[in-house]
Amino acid sequence: MVFIGHQNQWDFLKRVVENDKVPQALIFAGVEGLGKKLVALEFAKLLSCEAKQKAQRDPCHECYSCLTIEQNTFPDVFLIEPKNKEIQIEQIRELQNKVGLRPHLAERKVVIVDQAEALNQQAANCFLKTLEEPRGDVIFILITSQPERLLATIRSRCSILKFYPVPQEQIIKHLAKDVSPETLREVWPLAGGRVGMLLNLLEKKNYSVFHQTIKEIRDCLDGSLTDNFLFIKKLLASENNSSLAISFLDHFILYLRNLLIAKLGLTDGGIVSGFSFKKEHSLSKISQMIKEAERMRAILISTNVSPRLILENLFINVLSN
Ligand SMILES: [Zn+2]
Repeated sequence: MVFIGHQNQWDFLKRVVENDKVPQALIFAGVEGLGKKLVALEFAKLLSCEAKQKAQRDPCHECYSCLTIEQNTFPDVFLIEPKNKEIQIEQIRELQNKVGLRPHLAERKVVIVDQAEALNQQAANCFLKTLEEPRGDVIFILITSQPERLLATIRSRCSILKFYPVPQEQIIKHLAKDVSPETLREVWPLAGGRVGMLLNLLEKKNYSVFHQTIKEIRDCLDGSLTDNFLFIKKLLASENNSSLAISFLDHFILYLRNLLIAKLGLTDGGIVSGFSFKKEHSLSKISQMIKEAERMRAILISTNVSPRLILENLFINVLSN
């Protein structure tokens, strides 16, 4: 299996296939970085796999369908992702043309919409029309960390499957043969229980960048507003600064969550250990900072507001007193 955990969700998906009761549309909901897209791709393989012995209920990973779905070249599986932060109406129109035809090789076509909350209004209305005219041979999977941002009329036509962070023991067990326990202990707190992020970090093998980020976050939490504005200016000096700002916010939120848990005495500290702040950050202050950073992150990924303005605002709102 290519994803870790989510056994209940996977069992449910296998059951609906076995009983021939696959819903026409599914929402995979849960925070980012859990591996929801990997599960969706595995499900597409399960629906299209050519090795369909009853006894073997997982995709074979060897047939033409399984291999080409992995490479995103299988003609009956479509993956839609945001372009410039939005899923545009043209993408949905193009999709409608494709799903209007009969499947080429599989029994059913599978449409996976990643970050479905990024459907803009026009695209969402257009997508709704596609859902309203159901065809027996198309399955839609909408992946989202913010199901409440989807049109209620889209939500009501989908079965919702919720995804949760995978327990640490399960991940350690799964990775034990490839990754040393020391490395896992080091990287785990950085991933914050999100398998997708953990695998990303392990793949990059460059934790020094993350240690540097953690240092910067500590400096921000301890620094004056002027220091922090200078830091933002330096951080966002390069061209592609929107993704840098998102990455910074991700780590900022992660660090604060760890700080909160450590202050409550629930862990030995992990990434927040070995440092004492000059400033006092109370529990309520930390929760408020997390909320504000999450709000700023949501604005940053859904609008074209300047990343620098977003980070400056955050620091004014949460760190200026
Ligand atoms: Zn197969």
